[in-house]
Amino acid sequence: MMIKIDGLILEEIRDLVNSLGEPTYRGDQIYKWVYSKAVNDFDMMSDLSKEFRKKIKEVAAFTDFTLLELKESKRDLSLKGLFLLEDGEKIESVILKDADRHTLCVSTQVGCRMGCKFCNTAQVGFKRDLTTSEIIRQVLFMKKVLEDKGGKLTNIVYMGMGEPLDNIDNVIRSLEILTDENGVGFSHRKITVSTSGVVNHLDKLFSMKKVVNLAVSLNATTDGVRSRIMPINNRFPINTLLSKLKQLPLQKRKRITIEYVMLKGVNDTIEDAKRVVQLLKGLPVKINLIVYNQTIGGEYKSSDEDVVLNFQKYLTDRNFTVFIRKSLAADIDGACGQLYAKYI
Ligand code: SAH
Ligand code: SF4
Repeated sequence: MMIKIDGLILEEIRDLVNSLGEPTYRGDQIYKWVYSKAVNDFDMMSDLSKEFRKKIKEVAAFTDFTLLELKESKRDLSLKGLFLLEDGEKIESVILKDADRHTLCVSTQVGCRMGCKFCNTAQVGFKRDLTTSEIIRQVLFMKKVLEDKGGKLTNIVYMGMGEPLDNIDNVIRSLEILTDENGVGFSHRKITVSTSGVVNHLDKLFSMKKVVNLAVSLNATTDGVRSRIMPINNRFPINTLLSKLKQLPLQKRKRITIEYVMLKGVNDTIEDAKRVVQLLKGLPVKINLIVYNQTIGGEYKSSDEDVVLNFQKYLTDRNFTVFIRKSLAADIDGACGQLYAKYI
């Protein structure tokens, strides 16, 4: 089996070149080419000797990661890439433009096993975890496309297909490479990982040297409703989730983003807003009320605009920071949490 070079961390690449009888710094050179210069062809690594390139090509290769389709928003620089993976599966990543920010939303799994009732990815079921390479390559590819168009990637969110903490090891490896200044060199302060509340893996995420931002999809205020729409709540009910969040070693002035998809008649009453206040008391948060994007012919609808505004007002009046997030890039079916809808 060929080793996939584009998912290895620095130490692993060093070990690999050492095992081929080459000095460690050769590993550092390759690492730079792969991640910092986004080159995925050994023959383009001009500071490596011909013989060494031949030697490494016998044991290592790049992951097949093929662009099938690139959609561009007519309105802004939003972009969506559909990629073909080695085993024929497909994934999507999207860059959303919002004010002066370009945010890349990456996928971590093909499908998702969490089964949230309102989510399109859940309809796909679970196919498999993405490898470290497949996570990284989304970033390298989309970043380059954006840069070629004169844009600059400012943020990365792990909010595409899949539950990041259900693929924790590869997610952590990808974060290490992305945030390493000799790797992709992306600031950990500009990366957010979103979870439906897989409580048992939060410690791993917070034990990283460079801790990224956390977003948590709350989406309901009672266990009854949350368990109905998010089955993960049966395993980790609201109180378990929130007491874990309260124990996390958050850095000063860091806040957890609480995501709350506004679902008409499900979680959008003032009683819910009251419970949000109770539940989140004492936790440093900012709240994103997400306008539901109804792309599957399901039973869920977005709350009416005045309901969302009232919900927001109730919370801001009680000193919470609350944003309403409209679906960006709607003309390219881009919004996070609803990727893959067209490929079921
Ligand atoms: N699995 C992770 C990250 C991917 S989902 C998680 O659940 O947090 C990213 C966000 O999109 C979640 O907050 C989810 O609640 C939301 N979401 C899912 N389907 C949506 C839809 N159709 N419209 C709007 N938001 C949606
Ligand atoms: Fe998975 Fe997140 Fe969709 Fe739930 S909302 S099914 S956790 S991708």
